Amino acid sequence: MNRSQAEVEKLIIVGSGPAGLTAAIYAARGNLNPLVIAGREAGGQLTLTTDVDDFPGFEEGIQGPELMAKMRKQAERFNTRFINEDVVSVDLKAKPFVIQSESRRLTADSLIIATGASAMWLGLDSEQRLRGKGVSACAVCDGFFFKGKVVAVVGGGDTAMREANYLAKLCQKVIIIHRRDVLRAQPVLAELVKTKPNVEFVWNTEVVEVLGQEKVTGVKLKNTQTGQISELPIDGLFVAIGHKPNTDFLKEQLELNEKGYVVVEGETRTKIPGVFIAGDLADYRYRQAVTAAGAGCKAAFDIEEYLEAMKLPTEGNGG
Ligand SMILES: Cc1cc2nc3c(=O)[nH]c(=O)nc-3n(C[C@H](O)[C@H](O)[C@H](O)COP(=O)(O)OP(=O)(O)OC[C@H]3O[C@@H](n4cnc5c(N)ncnc54)[C@H](O)[C@@H]3O)c2cc1C
Repeated sequence: MNRSQAEVEKLIIVGSGPAGLTAAIYAARGNLNPLVIAGREAGGQLTLTTDVDDFPGFEEGIQGPELMAKMRKQAERFNTRFINEDVVSVDLKAKPFVIQSESRRLTADSLIIATGASAMWLGLDSEQRLRGKGVSACAVCDGFFFKGKVVAVVGGGDTAMREANYLAKLCQKVIIIHRRDVLRAQPVLAELVKTKPNVEFVWNTEVVEVLGQEKVTGVKLKNTQTGQISELPIDGLFVAIGHKPNTDFLKEQLELNEKGYVVVEGETRTKIPGVFIAGDLADYRYRQAVTAAGAGCKAAFDIEEYLEAMKLPTEGNGG
């Protein structure tokens, strides 16, 4: 596209979770005049939760939506502009890059993509009704609320073992409910969990309903082999059947791993110069607001360096 045909943004940030908004704060303060395409779920995953007790700086904790509103206001204070739409496609082979949102076609010299990930749920009405009232998809975030209590973890992969391992240190008992009779998790993780005295396994079993009105009181289970229905009283249910990174619009454009996470080089770089990544869409390990925010900060620094290098005359680049 000819630069005169449409105004080219210096930097577009896609996503407005902790990664995208932190990148925006740093980039705006660094005079990069960022435009944030915030997504339909502006504010990201933390808008789906209540108490956030582990984000530094809030000694009494803070509600997830309030934290995200504060981050957005902070970015706006430095004149960050926002569009509350999803990006539907990108052309990263074009220069400048082309970004198609739901209603606009935009172009940019550089991009930070911070579209996060979504926890996968069982798909039960009762599970959705009791989210934040005993149903969680994050042990590190919510485990503390179940100190000394009995909880169940659903799943048999690495995520489930990590969640169970974390919860076993806090809870009276952790019951792992798995629909098969063998775990998919790496043996080292599975063994670690199996040796915990307060962890039990319920094999060949699916959760068919989460019980409770105002808070979780138990789960209704179905044996996948016999069809037998039973009830298990618990105080909390951790669904740990994986996460899906929001990267569908990046297929064919960036290198993704077998689970759809973006493959990054070093901290935030991709194979395409000028395209940087921050947060949960590349991070299947830590998945925390503070680590996503940290990645956003790093991406903003890397972009600044990239854009500065672009301005340098070629003869000055030899070192
Ligand atoms: C229920 C729950 C409770 C949690 N509690 C805590 C906690 O207490 N402490 C903690 O540290 N972490 C917690 N987490 C984890 C934390 O929310 C995430 O690690 C963090 O939000 C990741 O930040 P992110 O910016 O990478 O992505 P996200 O927060 O997922 O934000 C992604 C952003 O990208 C946007 N987006 C997605 N697709 C597109 C698209 N195509 N176009 C444009 N925009 C798009 C979304 O609308 C959103 O704005 C919790 C998560 C959940 C689900």
